[in-house]
Amino acid sequence: MDCLFCKIANGEIPSTKVYEDDLVYAFRDIEPQAPVHVLIIPKKHITSVNDINHENCSIVGHIFKVAAQIAKSEGIAEDGYRIVTNIGDLAGQTVKHLHYHMLGGRSLQWPPG
Ligand code: AMP
Ligand code: ZN
Repeated sequence: MDCLFCKIANGEIPSTKVYEDDLVYAFRDIEPQAPVHVLIIPKKHITSVNDINHENCSIVGHIFKVAAQIAKSEGIAEDGYRIVTNIGDLAGQTVKHLHYHMLGGRSLQWPPG
């Protein structure tokens, strides 16, 4: 499958790894929007939240468990941070492989644009 994040997860395309296990890969966003901007993805291809179902939904809990660990290791857990996932074109999803943005290290505006 011609998917950028599948290729990043399997090492075909280089990235700056933050965390990896059998199920999840986390790496630094190439165009960081905050001092900490990490992308957390399932290694198995899921297009977006729209494709989460009974069979694959356990990965979401695992991703958030990993996110909590990364927030601590990045030093943003106490000050606060945001986790966001864009779904589809109106939300600005440019890579059609489920990914959670972790943004921190600065004050974040609400609502997002
Ligand atoms: P989204 O717009 O929500 O689909 O987010 C895709 C994110 O992937 C953007 O923040 C991009 O900067 C980031 N991105 C695109 N290509 C790469 C890459 N090769 N390595 C790391 N991050 C990337
Ligand atoms: Zn993929």
